[in-house]
Amino acid sequence: MATLYQRSTIGALLAGVFDGTETVGGMLRHGDFGLGTLNALDGELVVLDGVAYQVTSDGIAREVEHGKRTPFAAVTEFRAEHSLPIDQRTARADVAALIHSAARSENLTLAVRITGRFAQLTMRTVSRQTKPYPTLDEASRGETVISLDNIEGELVGFRTPEFEHSIGVAGFHLHFLDESRSTGGHLLDFVLERGTVELMEITDIHLSLPSTGAFLRADLDRADAEAKIRLAEGPQSE
Ligand code: ZN
Repeated sequence: MATLYQRSTIGALLAGVFDGTETVGGMLRHGDFGLGTLNALDGELVVLDGVAYQVTSDGIAREVEHGKRTPFAAVTEFRAEHSLPIDQRTARADVAALIHSAARSENLTLAVRITGRFAQLTMRTVSRQTKPYPTLDEASRGETVISLDNIEGELVGFRTPEFEHSIGVAGFHLHFLDESRSTGGHLLDFVLERGTVELMEITDIHLSLPSTGAFLRADLDRADAEAKIRLAEGPQSE
């Protein structure tokens, strides 16, 4: 039985709750695979094979010191249950359709790991914000978008049921890390040349909420949250 451990919610991040409330080291005790961001929205977090990487707004990935803090992250112990080989050029929407048809239900979270060669990859990386913090959709307007061609690496993340929107990013939320672990980011779009899609079903969620700071005062019950999260997270969440 796989468990997703999550610190805070995407709705809180949308509302500008960017102060880190859990250490990366503490989070790694709950999983070896996942994603998130860092204190003050300082780049994208990717956790792969038990190592946490920060991708800063210049697109550079480096290992994160375990004392750094995250305001939002989700991790699990990844053990592939399904492995789907892809041996021809396949666009994002078709990979998503393949995953949907392999999954037993849309109502369970899936951990998704896609390893391979990408013909094309478009990513963004959020940049460090200063107080007073903007909302996530405001902050993501200034994001750096980079496109890479013919690159080997891995997509790491989750497919979250629609009914969990505002807790997690409903739909797909994937971060990329290249094979040399030197670049990556929050995925917007891709074409896979060839590779392997690995999936793990998750039935249990451990949601850890901050008990101090801005989280306590944030308005987390906004009717427009779902639309704004989609806007901030990009086309992969559709
Ligand atoms: Zn992301």
